[in-house]
Amino acid sequence: MIETQLNERLDSPISFAEWSKDDFTRINSSSGGVFTELSKIIIEEGGVVFGVTFDNSFKARHISIENEEDIALIRGSKYVQSHIDDAYKKAVSIAFQGRPVLFSGTPCHISAINLFIRSNPEIEIYTCEVICHGIPSESIFRSYLDYFSQLKNSKIREYSFRDKTLGWKKSGIKIIFNNGEEYFRRWLKDPFMIGFLRDIYLRPICYACPFAHLPRGADITIGDFWGVPKELDDPRGVSAVIINTPKGEKLFEKVSNVEKVKVSLNQISLYNPRLVNGHLESVPYRKDFYKLLESNGFEAVMEKYLKPYTWFQKLRLAPKYVYRVMLRYIRRLFL
Ligand SMILES: Cc1cc2nc3c(=O)[nH]c(=O)nc-3n(C[C@H](O)[C@H](O)[C@H](O)COP(=O)(O)OP(=O)(O)OC[C@H]3O[C@@H](n4cnc5c(N)ncnc54)[C@H](O)[C@@H]3O)c2cc1C
Ligand code: SF4
Repeated sequence: MIETQLNERLDSPISFAEWSKDDFTRINSSSGGVFTELSKIIIEEGGVVFGVTFDNSFKARHISIENEEDIALIRGSKYVQSHIDDAYKKAVSIAFQGRPVLFSGTPCHISAINLFIRSNPEIEIYTCEVICHGIPSESIFRSYLDYFSQLKNSKIREYSFRDKTLGWKKSGIKIIFNNGEEYFRRWLKDPFMIGFLRDIYLRPICYACPFAHLPRGADITIGDFWGVPKELDDPRGVSAVIINTPKGEKLFEKVSNVEKVKVSLNQISLYNPRLVNGHLESVPYRKDFYKLLESNGFEAVMEKYLKPYTWFQKLRLAPKYVYRVMLRYIRRLFL
C-alpha cells in the first residue's frame, strides 16, 4: 500500500448522500453537484480552485479558477487522463501567498499534492478526490473523436460524458458538431464508454490501483451514489460524499447550499467498489485490441470489440451478473 495519507484524519470518516439545492448545478454536474458547492465556498473566501477542463482540442487539463462563473469550466467528469501541467507548483505557490486552495482530481493526483502538503502543513490546501474507476488512454479517446468528426464531416463543438437528458442513472454521451448535428448515446451504446466500462484500455496502474482503499487520502471524497436508497433517488443526480479529515470537516461545515442525509460507508461501497478495492481484471484480448488499433484504426476495433453485447453474449455473462447481484443482496442484509 502506498503511503498517501495526511497526518491528521478523522477516526471514522463521515459519509452522506448529498446534492446541490440549485437545480442548474445539480443537473449540469456528473452526480449531485457537490463539487460546485465546495468550489463556491473557496472562491467566496478569496481562494483558488483547481480542477479538470477540456481545452479547445478536447484534451483534459488541470486549470485554476477564481471566479464563480468559471466553475462551469471544471464541472463534470472527463473520463480521460488529465494533463497536470504546472498545477501542483501553482497550487502550492498560491497557498504560500495565504490564499485557500481547493485541489481536485483522481486519488493519484491527490497523493502527489499530499507530498507538498505534508512537508508544508501550515498552507491551506483542501483536497477533493473522485472515487476513481480508472483512466482510459488519451490516444484512444483521440482516435474516437477523429472517427466521429470524419463520419459527420464536421469538427466537434461540445462534448459531454455526462448528459442527463434521460436522467442521472441513464447518463449518456452528447456530442454537438460545428455543422449543428447532434449525437446522443447511452453509455452502453457508445463505443468509447463500452471500452472504458469493460476495462479494455485503462492505464496499466489502474488495474491494481494503490489508492483505492480506506482510509482515503483526500480531505473529501466524492462520487456517484449508485446505490442510493430508493427514497433519496432522483434523476437529477445524487452524490456520495465522504469526509475523511478534520480539514475536510471544517470546509464542509461552511457548505449550506446542499441537502444531505447521513449514510453508512457500506451503503456507498456496495455499488462503488473502487472506494475500497483497487483490483480490476484486465481483458485477455487487450494486446490484440491495441495491435488491431495500430494496424487498422479505430473503426476496426469498434467493429470487433466496442459493440453493445448481443443477446447471446448477455446470456453467456448472465451467471456472473446473477452472482454479483446475489452477493450485493447478501451484503445489504447485513448493513
Ligand atoms: C476518471 C474518473 C473516474 C470516475 N470513476 C468513478 C467511479 O468509479 N465511481 C464513482 O462513484 N464516481 C466516479 N467518478 C466520479 C464521478 O464521475 C463524479 O465526478 C462525482 O460524482 C462528482 O460529481 P459532482 O456532481 O459533485 O461534480 P462534478 O462537477 O461533476 O465533479 C467533477 C470533478 O471531477 C474532476 N475531474 C473531472 N475530470 C477529471 C479527470 N479526467 N481527472 C481528474 N479529475 C477529474 C473535476 O476536477 C471535479 O472535481 C469518476 C470520475 C472521474 C473523472
Ligand atoms: S484508478 Fe487509481 S491509478 Fe488509476 S487513475 Fe484512478 S486513482 Fe489513479
